[in-house]
Amino acid sequence: MTLRAYICSENSKYMATFKNEFSWSLSRNELFHYCPRKYFYNYYEYWDGWLWNASPLKKKIYQLKKMSALDMWLGDVVHRCIKYSILHKDKEASYLLESLQKRLAHDLAISYQNAQGPINPKSLLLIEHYKGLPIDQDYWFEKGATLLTTYFQSKWYDILKSIPANQFIYVDADDIKSMQFDVQGLKVYAIPDLCFYDQEGQLILIDWKTGRERHTELSAQLKIYALRLQLVDGIDTKITNIQAYTHYIQTGTDVGRNIAASDIDEAYAIIDAGKQQMLALLENEAENKPKPMVCFEKTDDTSKCELCPFQEICN
Ligand code: SF4
Repeated sequence: MTLRAYICSENSKYMATFKNEFSWSLSRNELFHYCPRKYFYNYYEYWDGWLWNASPLKKKIYQLKKMSALDMWLGDVVHRCIKYSILHKDKEASYLLESLQKRLAHDLAISYQNAQGPINPKSLLLIEHYKGLPIDQDYWFEKGATLLTTYFQSKWYDILKSIPANQFIYVDADDIKSMQFDVQGLKVYAIPDLCFYDQEGQLILIDWKTGRERHTELSAQLKIYALRLQLVDGIDTKITNIQAYTHYIQTGTDVGRNIAASDIDEAYAIIDAGKQQMLALLENEAENKPKPMVCFEKTDDTSKCELCPFQEICN
């Protein structure tokens, strides 16, 4: 067998087991409403773009999908620092702040290097570097430090320092497999940033947010996390009281309340409504085959396009 034939046969074996299956997550749902065309690129048109024999356009879409915006990247790094501080309680705030700065500098250098090409889609690439936009590194270093310092001043930092490891149910798991669970036969991706029993035995559920405040009441995300606690962890909200909060790190604000049984019903309803809307744009549900791209409308709000990774192919 020639090398080319061997690679083709390996690829076809791989593709036989690796399918683009339909699933649901709140971020997918939000993207669907933000811009259906962006949703199409992000969840369908990129597929197979990693293969050696993919078309140049597919490869490009895959590469564009893998890029990250600066504020999302910063939020992700701060999330990881908070997770580290929970798992390594002996580490001082000064050590964590220094580590954050090193990580930010490291990532910015990697992204800048990647943008010079040839682009490696598996390595970090910030949209701003890719587009050649100016990046004020000091601004982002300071923003990261301010976020982390504000977190250190929050009540959660002190509370979490005293919680033993066996009282945590979730601490920001980031592997894709553990994020999924089954909701009435549908694969759903959702896993809490943090869930633990406090010193009084109260179950606390937290969603960290590094961005601006978006909610004034219990978020849909927290309702879906509570559903997960019920379905995966056997925590029945009718029996166990769950305090759930979105914690806005920038301001130190907590938005939330106790989970009620009606929140679980609402989580089911949110997932089902989102699923039906997405399925309506499939040509073949069993194969998760989308209708033609033209059925996925572009947003009318062109301000959304400025930092959209797909802008260069979306015309
Ligand atoms: S460039 Fe604009 S219209 Fe096109 S996918 Fe992005 S957000 Fe949607």
